[in-house]
Amino acid sequence: MLLAAAAGLAAGSVLGVVVHRLPLMLEERWRRESGGDGPDPRPANRMNLATPRSHCPRCRQPIPWYGLVPLAGFALLGGRCARCRAPIPVRYPIVELLCAVATAVCAWRFGPGWPAAGAIALTWALLALAVIDLERRLLPDAITLPMLWAGIGFNLAGGYLTTLEDSVLGAMTGYGALWLVQRAYRRLRGREGLGTGDLKLTAMLGAWLGWETLPGIVFLASLGGIGAGLAKPGPFAFGPWLALAGWLTLVAGNLGRFLLP
Ligand SMILES: [Zn+2]
Repeated sequence: MLLAAAAGLAAGSVLGVVVHRLPLMLEERWRRESGGDGPDPRPANRMNLATPRSHCPRCRQPIPWYGLVPLAGFALLGGRCARCRAPIPVRYPIVELLCAVATAVCAWRFGPGWPAAGAIALTWALLALAVIDLERRLLPDAITLPMLWAGIGFNLAGGYLTTLEDSVLGAMTGYGALWLVQRAYRRLRGREGLGTGDLKLTAMLGAWLGWETLPGIVFLASLGGIGAGLAKPGPFAFGPWLALAGWLTLVAGNLGRFLLP
């Protein structure tokens, strides 16, 4: 579990970069593909997940090596850029901590072996998706689609979390059922209620966890969403609730059994 927590800390540090850069890279690609005016001429705005090295977004000062140490780095820097004193988003240490705890929980729940490896991969993907959706209202295909196929492949390889049959049915019904909800909402209310990313995330969860888990996941996520809607009226991101309900199902089993007699 300690080993898993350490791996989770390191992964959380990488996820902090993914969460920040992936939406910017996608925006840059959309801009290029829609505008037809070539790559962003400002070289400072060209990036991928590996380069340039982590820097302050305001003054572009590279983060010193000790600032890149998970959790401790944020504290050592006092939560600010060493040069211009711009605040570093508190999201970084929070994601690192959540990632470490969630990864350790997977190790505790599954023990050493392939099921834990798959559960940890799913955990990291769900955390990245939840944070990106919270901040940008976006669930990138670059994560949901490969992870959907990975879930089917994982259960094909050993039926680790569910059978192949239930995995394929999960991917189909996850997308299909939410597609129906999306269409019904659009027809009734005349506006969008669910994003297509929510459909793909539900399909991904179905592929990993099996179709039987989906009613519990969607029900619990909806409760969370309704709560969020009551607390703060207006549009809200549904993806983080799906991700949370999916992760709870991963570690605690089908949540539907608590809902049905
Ligand atoms: Zn700075």
